[in-house]
Amino acid sequence: MYRIGIGYDLHRLVPGRKLVLGGVDIPFHLGAAGHSDGDCLIHAVIDALLGAVAAGDIGGHFPDTDPRWKDARSTDLLARVMEIVREKGFEVVNVDTVVVAEAPRLGPYHGAIRDVLCPILGIAPSDLGIKAKTAEGLGVIGEGSAIACHAVTLLRKCA
Ligand SMILES: [Zn+2]
Repeated sequence: MYRIGIGYDLHRLVPGRKLVLGGVDIPFHLGAAGHSDGDCLIHAVIDALLGAVAAGDIGGHFPDTDPRWKDARSTDLLARVMEIVREKGFEVVNVDTVVVAEAPRLGPYHGAIRDVLCPILGIAPSDLGIKAKTAEGLGVIGEGSAIACHAVTLLRKCA
């Protein structure tokens, strides 16, 4: 038995914040505003996983009104969500993602992102897709004011 899930997230890019994507600190002059570390790649993956098991969304599990999640590392949130996935009897088959940002270029960090996320997800590096698109200079992403990510996942019921 298989389940698919879709996730999406967007964060404003602001000065004075670190840019964290896929659990990796990316050198950049702007970072993602947000209650946690603002890791929009992980947040999109979390919503895809929660969606696949119909277990709500990231805002319900980690509300930004809860001081426990202030500056929380999104890798820790992802690990908690994987506990939910496993409790429901599923394992991850693969995850695919698209990061939409005008800058920075993420190609040099794909390996580091896989090194962080794949052990948490319980998948091989070849089972995590990471793709990057620009917004062709259009809209809030194109002007560099925001970064967004789309994610899909396929889960398999454990025997
Ligand atoms: Zn987010």
